[in-house]
Amino acid sequence: MTDPPSWWWAQLGGLPEPRPPLEGDREADVCIVGAGYTGLWTAYELKRAQPELEVVVLEREVAGFGASGRNGGWVLGEVSIGSRMRAAAGDGAIEALERAAQQTVDEVGETCARDAIPCDFVKGGSLTVAQTAPQLARLRTASRGEILDADQATARVRVHGMRGARFTPHCARVQPAKLARGLAAAVERRGATIHERTPAQTLEPHAVRTPHGTVRARWVIRATEGYTAELPGLKRALLPLWSSMIVTEPLDTATWEQIGWQGRETIDDAAHVYCYLQRTADDRIAIGGRGHPYRFGSGTERANGVPDATVRHLRARLARLFPQLRETPIAHAWTGVFGVARDWAASVHCDRQSGMCWAGGYAGEGVAAANLAARTLRDLVLDRDTELTRLPWVAHRPRDWEPEPLRWLAVQAVYGGLRAADAIEDRTGRRSRLARAAAALSGR
Ligand SMILES: Cc1cc2nc3c(=O)[nH]c(=O)nc-3n(C[C@H](O)[C@H](O)[C@H](O)COP(=O)(O)OP(=O)(O)OC[C@H]3O[C@@H](n4cnc5c(N)ncnc54)[C@H](O)[C@@H]3O)c2cc1C
Repeated sequence: MTDPPSWWWAQLGGLPEPRPPLEGDREADVCIVGAGYTGLWTAYELKRAQPELEVVVLEREVAGFGASGRNGGWVLGEVSIGSRMRAAAGDGAIEALERAAQQTVDEVGETCARDAIPCDFVKGGSLTVAQTAPQLARLRTASRGEILDADQATARVRVHGMRGARFTPHCARVQPAKLARGLAAAVERRGATIHERTPAQTLEPHAVRTPHGTVRARWVIRATEGYTAELPGLKRALLPLWSSMIVTEPLDTATWEQIGWQGRETIDDAAHVYCYLQRTADDRIAIGGRGHPYRFGSGTERANGVPDATVRHLRARLARLFPQLRETPIAHAWTGVFGVARDWAASVHCDRQSGMCWAGGYAGEGVAAANLAARTLRDLVLDRDTELTRLPWVAHRPRDWEPEPLRWLAVQAVYGGLRAADAIEDRTGRRSRLARAAAALSGR
């Protein structure tokens, strides 16, 4: 058996046996490429709305092999919007998108309950913790969430040097691979077909070609997020960014009594290069962060190895938050890739004439956003004029990323700038302007 791509999959005994690949040409109403959350939720929603539709999902590996089976398990009620879309759409439209994203957390929970998708869903909200004065100052200027003082925040979780935190109720925790696995099964129960080990080679109007045959369909939906750069003609559409995670062995009761964290909130810190955490259902801590964020030429090579330096970095971040965990054994480390648009705005597209659709660019906030995108794609494909189809991320068009080596240089400069800003803030206790320059360079 190949190494599981994440601890989430390892916990389930590894990747499941692949479903049968496509065998020869076939016809369908809808052909979806990619069986992560975007592709699977879209298939699910289409079949739920119109059971007679013929829906075929093509997956190069197995369902949930990509970011959907590797992420931090934050079902976060936010969508990556970016300053350009924010300015173009206006306050009312942006508020509608933000509201829809918040409602999606409950939508995911209700769907999982209704369709028997066991995935350790717990809606405990999310805490962004500040350990330095500049971090706290940044939290105070943020528009969303409730600011907790150090005592209130510590009552929830005892983070070392806690200065305060921001709390939002709009977040749940899941075991990501359980969600992907359960969703794939729900898609099949609803009557869609998933062909695994079936790579799409080209996506054209009304046809997807694979080495095993061609699927002809009225609608072709690209749901390949972080891997999109590998498809012909799409090298510069979405930047593949890497994020890495480690998970501890289960912590004992005495350690949990020290730490608190009974509410199962997801947690991140307010550093510029932040880390994100969840308390797992079996009482471990899973923590993720950027590590080496980009590979020259938009590489998405599928090796599972995580550089030692990245593991050391994540261990140090864990110890900075919880010093008592400095020596805690790490059970597993893994990495994964997600997609970022040039203006950091996620978007959903559907061209009625060509039948070509896609969704993605969630910029690391794709667990809930993929569900919202899927319900939006459903309405667009079914030609329904709904609140979802009027949201400002529909048909939003970011420009392409720069060619190499500019792309690589830009990412190095942005992350170098953000890391330096964190170091300056730790050293001086004052906010650094470097971070603003890095954000401007990123186009965020
Ligand atoms: C380490 C990590 C942590 C993250 N943490 C969070 C988090 O806590 N919360 C959050 O909201 N977001 C998080 N994200 C982002 C989130 O996981 C993704 O945005 C989301 O899962 C994207 O889902 P997707 O279905 O669009 O893409 P994916 O899950 O990547 O699925 C794309 C699928 O397409 C398949 N594919 C690619 N090319 C082809 C082809 N040519 N033919 C057929 N199939 C193909 C791939 O094998 C893959 O299965 C994280 C991402 C990573 C990597």
